[in-house]
Amino acid sequence: MTLLEWQNKILIIDMGFRFPEEDMPGIDFIIPNIAYLKGREKDVVGLLITHGHYDHIGAIPYLIGKIDPKLPIYASALAKGIITKRQDDFSQQGKLNVETVKNGSRVELGPFKIEFFRQNHNIPDNLGLVINTPVGNIVHTSDFKFDETPVNDLPTDFSKLKEIASRRVLLLMADSTGAENEGHSLSEQTISANLEEIFQKSKGRVIAATFSSLINRVQQLITISEKHGRRVFIEGFSMRTNVEISRNLGYIKFKKGTLVQSKDIAKYPDEKITVICTGAQGEGQASLMRIANREHQFIRLKKGDAVIFSSSVIPGNEKTVQVLKDEILRQKTTVYHYKMMDIHAGGHAQIEELKQMISIMKPDFFMPIHGQYSMMAAHGEIAESVGMNEKNVVVVENGQVVALTRKTIEIEKEVIPSYYVMVDGLGIGDVGEIVLRDRQTLAKDGMFVIIAVIDRQTGKIKGSPDIISRGFVYLRESQELLDQTRKKVIGIVSQATGSEGIVNWAYIKDEIRNKVGQYLYTKTQRRPMILPVVIEV
Ligand SMILES: [Zn+2]
Repeated sequence: MTLLEWQNKILIIDMGFRFPEEDMPGIDFIIPNIAYLKGREKDVVGLLITHGHYDHIGAIPYLIGKIDPKLPIYASALAKGIITKRQDDFSQQGKLNVETVKNGSRVELGPFKIEFFRQNHNIPDNLGLVINTPVGNIVHTSDFKFDETPVNDLPTDFSKLKEIASRRVLLLMADSTGAENEGHSLSEQTISANLEEIFQKSKGRVIAATFSSLINRVQQLITISEKHGRRVFIEGFSMRTNVEISRNLGYIKFKKGTLVQSKDIAKYPDEKITVICTGAQGEGQASLMRIANREHQFIRLKKGDAVIFSSSVIPGNEKTVQVLKDEILRQKTTVYHYKMMDIHAGGHAQIEELKQMISIMKPDFFMPIHGQYSMMAAHGEIAESVGMNEKNVVVVENGQVVALTRKTIEIEKEVIPSYYVMVDGLGIGDVGEIVLRDRQTLAKDGMFVIIAVIDRQTGKIKGSPDIISRGFVYLRESQELLDQTRKKVIGIVSQATGSEGIVNWAYIKDEIRNKVGQYLYTKTQRRPMILPVVIEV
């Protein structure tokens, strides 16, 4: 999410979410921090959406109501379809105010005059932005790649890009996701040819897993299947939803009878079946995982099946994907993945295309956007390699503010709040650092609860302390450890209460936590979360 501000008017570009990191157990995703907009809600003039991927639209249901439930949103037909469909899950919120825009649409919002232009990516209906501001034109590329032979889309319109450049570009904000990859991204046509080769070779079923948001890939698989007389089964909730939306809007086309229900899969011979499913990243609940684990209602893998992973592996998912691949191979299938042949092209421009974009736009100033810091830094260097002056390139992180005038670009000293806002179930932003740290401890070494009943009169423990534990040791097999711990607790309490009869309960709890913690650590080298419960009677 990016904000453009002129005097008192604020324009928002995209409102996406990101997935949590591995050390964030239970977090569904992370959404943009809008603390800066608090009290300024009425200054916001609109929200521009570049395309329908969740990292660009995913936070709308969580944030729009906090800004203005009726804020005008401008999105292409497909992005609007996906946004609106998702809003069904948030029915209490009422209807969003989404206006459809397309290549060439113009919108005026406060001091900003916006023109949308078509950009290639791996989802159709992706729009770049030319934003005319009182200081000059800002061009925002959206996620993009150059593809002269795309599938399901028109080729990149270079003459349009040149026309935009001819109006003079003050600032170019360009997608950095592919900035560390040499060369040019593959054309979708190359991917089609390679996929086709697999279909030709395969005598059994073809099971292709990809992202549900890769609408163009799904179309490729459908087209090739039709060519080979195969019926298509779409598996996975998000995949089915996206195919339905795209089909209704005409972005995915297939012949009558191509698509069949998975319960009918047994009616067709293997060589006439293609399954397109979710789960190429090894996601636990996705279709491919359920198929591999023999948990799928209708599909079991068998000899002769060709399983295609038509996506790259997102960093962090390598192990899960490896385990999944092994499990699939154990079932005597043939597996194809992107390292073996080009059956996946990323949706993002690589170094040569990024150079080309900067060379076409010839901006006064350049700001890399999207991707990790290393990718933006690499993109900054790419800009310099095509002749941009280092001082005209700014690489910034979340929360930083860039001041732009007709003649200067500067990173301001002031930063705006950008700490993570985490979503967990219905809770938005209520899981903070402390809750997260507790979850990490619980996930690592479990918990250990000690319940001590203490006699107020004598200051002594009544009976033996109770111990409850989860995820630390198996209690039934750890009697010795538990007995010793109980003795320790009795000792700690009698020492702490002494003979005066004045009892500091908080101190006793701390003592139990610390001393039992140390004791358990020396015995097990583990640090469970210790929860002392002291009850006075
Ligand atoms: Zn995208």
